[in-house]
Amino acid sequence: MALITQAPRGTQDVLPENSYKWQYVEQTALSIARDFGFHEIRTPVFEHTNLFQRSVGETTDVVQKEMYTFEDKGGRSITLRPEGTAGAARAVLEHGLLAGALPVKVSYVTSCYRYEKSQKGRYREFHQFGVECFGASAPQADAETISLAMMILGGLGLSNVALHINSIGCPSCRARYHEALHTYFEARKADLCGTCLSRLERNPMRILDCKSPVCHGIAAEAPVMLDYLCDDCAEHFASVKECLDAAGIQYVVDTHIVRGLDYYTRTVFELVSDQGLVVAGGGRYDGLVSELGGAAQPGLGFAMGIERLLMVMEEQGARFPEAPVCDLYLVSMGQAAAKRCFALATALREGGATVECDIVGRSLKAQMKYADKLGARYTVVVGDNELETGRAQLKDMTSGSTEEVPLDEGLYSILRQKLLDRELAGVADLFGSVAEFV
Ligand code: ATP
Ligand code: MG
Repeated sequence: MALITQAPRGTQDVLPENSYKWQYVEQTALSIARDFGFHEIRTPVFEHTNLFQRSVGETTDVVQKEMYTFEDKGGRSITLRPEGTAGAARAVLEHGLLAGALPVKVSYVTSCYRYEKSQKGRYREFHQFGVECFGASAPQADAETISLAMMILGGLGLSNVALHINSIGCPSCRARYHEALHTYFEARKADLCGTCLSRLERNPMRILDCKSPVCHGIAAEAPVMLDYLCDDCAEHFASVKECLDAAGIQYVVDTHIVRGLDYYTRTVFELVSDQGLVVAGGGRYDGLVSELGGAAQPGLGFAMGIERLLMVMEEQGARFPEAPVCDLYLVSMGQAAAKRCFALATALREGGATVECDIVGRSLKAQMKYADKLGARYTVVVGDNELETGRAQLKDMTSGSTEEVPLDEGLYSILRQKLLDRELAGVADLFGSVAEFV
């Protein structure tokens, strides 16, 4: 049999055997963000195209090459979101949140869509965890956002990820810098790649970010934004660094970070794994809210690629929680036993246990085999005999030991106690390995 189609290029299915890892990463990030006062916002997967044109910026690769844009049946130009900031900014403006208490701090987990050449760590549908903070211009806000990003990595057990920061100034000091950059690259025009030639007039800063080795070499000697910052921007950047120092957050100043999106101002940062993979990127975007038609308010945020986070976690051997397993499999022999097992499973599930019973009508042997495959911690076999006496053997599938248990609430408390003991033993194990490590 041939399947009629496959998943589109650049997309991935997350199968049940892996989804718990995604849930773990997403829940960890959302919950640490909550500790910082960021609360979840959910916005549509598609927006009017002009939102991204205005916010992300016409000269960016995202808008020029990567957006999934189409006309809907009503003739509107619609775009699948290529990133999370624009939609979050639109939503807080549309609902008047910026007229209330400031700052407004939001977080999100979203899918994003970019028509990119698909390769390792680069997909056409990918997922981001992100946060945005509106209405805070103080350098402490930059440090807080950066500290959140670092704390999430720490919470996920990642240590070999470096924080790179830079300042790209404000529109007024950047104009002078653009001029200097333009002069520099103009003189070396003959060696630039085609894409960078087109960037030269519209957005020379993007040349600093070019992946071609020749452009990269030329860019290495180019003038540096930090030398062109106006007094206010220079002072702001110095304070951000002081805040990070005071909190013991290590960073490297990397004058080549420019970020791909047009709305950034002042602080920009990236989190880079020891393999050179950019796991997260963010910064300040003080011009974005007014660009979208709102009364000017500063803003900043970051986004982490969840696929990339997971890749780095696997590479660095980070600890994941245990995959969810079945606590108890109820094996039944015959119709009456199957009904009794179903009722028992329902009661145990109501109490929060992870319980399964036969819903296929299989033989005893086949049910045992299935329970084994599931990795069930315990099994109970219920046949005519057990129905009559109301008692059965609870089998520990790891040790093979058995004990007699009642087929009623009594089973619930025994199972609960055993699972608690196991969990405690697991925690003890964990401490054991930490002690070894120390
Ligand atoms: P890159 O330089 O890798 O193209 P970017 O500057 O386009 O990244 P952002 O728009 O800042 O990335 O997105 C934030 C994060 O989202 C990135 O750091 C990365 O982890 C992730 N990301 C971006 N594009 C993709 C993609 N196509 N596939 C998977 N993850 C992505
Ligand atoms: Mg990109």
